[in-house]
Amino acid sequence: MSIVTLENVSKAYSPPRRDAQPIVAVDDVTLRVDKGDVFGIIGYSGAGKSTLVRLINALEPATGGTITVDGTDITALGERDLRRVRGGIGMIFQQFNLFASKSVKANIAYPLKLAGWSKPDIEARVAELLAFVGLADKARAYPEQLSGGQKQRVGIARALATRPAILLADEATSALDPQTTHEVLDLLKRVNEEQGVTIIIITHEMDVIQTIATKVAVMDSGRVIEQGDVFEVFSDPQHPASQRFVGTVIKGIPSPAERAVLQERHHGRIVTFSFRDGDSSQAQVFLDLATAGLEFELIYGGINDIRGRAFGHLTLAIRGADAAIDAALTKIRAHATVTDISAEEGTR
Ligand code: ADP
Repeated sequence: MSIVTLENVSKAYSPPRRDAQPIVAVDDVTLRVDKGDVFGIIGYSGAGKSTLVRLINALEPATGGTITVDGTDITALGERDLRRVRGGIGMIFQQFNLFASKSVKANIAYPLKLAGWSKPDIEARVAELLAFVGLADKARAYPEQLSGGQKQRVGIARALATRPAILLADEATSALDPQTTHEVLDLLKRVNEEQGVTIIIITHEMDVIQTIATKVAVMDSGRVIEQGDVFEVFSDPQHPASQRFVGTVIKGIPSPAERAVLQERHHGRIVTFSFRDGDSSQAQVFLDLATAGLEFELIYGGINDIRGRAFGHLTLAIRGADAAIDAALTKIRAHATVTDISAEEGTR
């Protein structure tokens, strides 16, 4: 069931000069986030991600299209109703945005006070949240006494305080080191799985998407250029920009520059075999090569696991008579995707 839907949404800003073209930050975006998704939105700086976030949490109006949040068309709402919609969306930020002069406990209690909760209810809820994010012993500490990861855990507790159905994370791990990033992502996974909160995560880091997202939309120049199940997009990215993002975390078919290095370092026929989830069996490929009396070594690539589904690209240097290699590849092509790099490069 959908919880956030965008249909042909655009956002144009007035240009700095009257006679210039409007700045189109979001351009005809259509996407659907289902309840329970961890939905990743990835793009380079300037792609329009932050603008999209401000449209979803109703901080700015769209200039075109329809945005539906939890069944309500927010493009048609007045300020009072918008405030209620915003209350159903928790936000976490790259710079944490904690109150420096308030203790951890007071930071988390803040949205509850604003929402008019009673003192005993606030006490109980804050204690519950502190335990959930593993900071029960830091209730009286101040933000400056915490590490980056701890600050973001306070940010998450505060964002969840009023039990929103949606959590929007805007570059929430971009200021953290890799180890802390993984701790925070693990916590977000628990927020999603244990509390049923739908998470929309904006990032320029593909490994964040790989670690936590179930679905992904790739943005470029204000547009969504590709979207779908994370496994599908990672194992077979269609758009060049998506291929570049996937290439930052997955070793696929070697690029022309990498091919040159591989050919210099290894002798034999260089061939990539691509596997996707049960499409083909790696064991069968190796068996076919061995049965043909060919010698081979793995020189590039690997197998990746995305939420329990495997895919990968293995590049081998195969040594033996050319005719024997050709015959083996013909046989293998019947059950696996083969890229004969040496043939493509004209070096065999
Ligand atoms: P991202 O979050 O992917 O880095 P942004 O949404 O911040 O991208 O920006 C997308 C584009 O919209 C950029 O070209 C940016 O300069 C422009 N933009 C964003 N906000 C404004 C604004 N308030 N006024 C004018 N231009 C803006």
